Amino acid sequence: MAELLSGKILSEQLTLKQKEKVAELKEKGIVPGLAVVFVGEDPASQIYVRNKGIACETIGIYSRTIRLDADCTQEKLTETIEDLNKDKQIHGILVQLPLPKHLDEQKTLATILPQKDVDGFHLINAGKLFTNQKGIVPCTPKGILFMLKDAGIDLAGKEAVIIGRSNIVGKPAAMLLLNENCTVTICHSKTKDLKEHTKRADILVAAIGKAKFVTADMVKPGSVVIDVGINRVDGKVVGDVDFEAVEKIASYITPVPGGVGKMTISMLMENTLEAACAQAL
Ligand code: NDP
Repeated sequence: MAELLSGKILSEQLTLKQKEKVAELKEKGIVPGLAVVFVGEDPASQIYVRNKGIACETIGIYSRTIRLDADCTQEKLTETIEDLNKDKQIHGILVQLPLPKHLDEQKTLATILPQKDVDGFHLINAGKLFTNQKGIVPCTPKGILFMLKDAGIDLAGKEAVIIGRSNIVGKPAAMLLLNENCTVTICHSKTKDLKEHTKRADILVAAIGKAKFVTADMVKPGSVVIDVGINRVDGKVVGDVDFEAVEKIASYITPVPGGVGKMTISMLMENTLEAACAQAL
């Protein structure tokens, strides 16, 4: 039976450390600040934005949510970000994605100052990750690596297979694991014979967005299985992995909920604290 990689427990431990860090910074007169820009009313995004606010409050980070109407212009959005770029109270800026269709996501992300880009989506930060330089790393992949390292899982030379090639999860997760000396394969919807790849994986990351897509016959016995998926089925949240079947053969597995999702928020707090230190110290 696989050992559980609990994002819940790990994130609770991190919260305690982060509270201490914030208290330390406050003694030096620095209050870390995070701004979340939220355009429109997407219900899932509303929940994510609320959770980010709660996390800030728990740790003692100053947080500000800027809500813009769904029909907001690109100019208004750019102007809002530019104001936050100049704002000394704000060390991290996050634009909640997805944006309404009429807005340009890449242009919007490029407006954020790279040192305030706590989601790590700016091209400068993406480029730094690509070239293995220190920059701000996207929260979900950073959380995945944190969990693997915390469990003492050896990464060098391991076969890592990522299902999913999004800019926010799949690709940065692949880069991080490559930088840790894994041999990395990225699979996607056009991959031929997916199972042939996944069966080789010592570390399998599922970031697809399809409930219980990864079945036991796709998994190598003894492997580490990281489930990034968040899918709502009959009012329940489930991952991309058929947890009940796969936990019987994997050596480690992340649950959903209580796995990668918890770490994503923790890493957002971490990135905000790091950004505050880099800007204010
Ligand atoms: P995207 O929709 O952007 O990407 C999904 C990827 O899965 C694509 O690369 C797609 O391939 C691939 N894919 C789809 N169907 C198949 C298939 N049949 N076989 C192989 N690959 C396939 O999603 P995200 O990366 O944004 O998110 C993935 C999941 O993770 C979602 O459930 C999302 O909710 C969740 N998520 C969870 C987070 C957390 O904190 N836990 C944070 C962010 C996301 P192609 O490129 O060819 O279309």
